Amino acid sequence: MNQDERFLREAIRLAREGMNSGQGGPFGAVVVKDGEIIGSGPNRVTSTNDPTAHAEVVAIRDACEHLGTFQLEACTLYASCEPCPMCLGAIYWARPSRVVYAARHADAAEAGFDDSFIYEEIVKPHEHRRIPMQQMLADEAKTVFKEWIVKGSKIPY
Ligand SMILES: [Zn+2]
Repeated sequence: MNQDERFLREAIRLAREGMNSGQGGPFGAVVVKDGEIIGSGPNRVTSTNDPTAHAEVVAIRDACEHLGTFQLEACTLYASCEPCPMCLGAIYWARPSRVVYAARHADAAEAGFDDSFIYEEIVKPHEHRRIPMQQMLADEAKTVFKEWIVKGSKIPY
């Protein structure tokens, strides 16, 4: 069994374990660096009342805490299912070098986890989105960006 299959099966095992132990939905993820699991997580949405506690986000937070950094350089994220748009965003911010997933998003949709509406929302004009988005006070908010640009000590990311 190759490494990818081994780690992906661990993500699937976490998905089942998390579901059966009442932690949340049937999703699991692990983050691997140098052949070692450095972060993992099942979905914990319902047990922690955290709508962002998808397995990938839980695993990314765990891995970053373990590494003491906010970047997952040279890491691979294994997910039991294709990441949703939120997790995809988190993955791009965390910057692992690779993602390997098992079930496809259509498979999750069949189980009642359909995230395709989010992809549809992203490309819609703001005024046509299900959740209205209103823009205001840009000039006031931009002053913080100007302060950031000239700030002496900062950690860019
Ligand atoms: Zn997700």
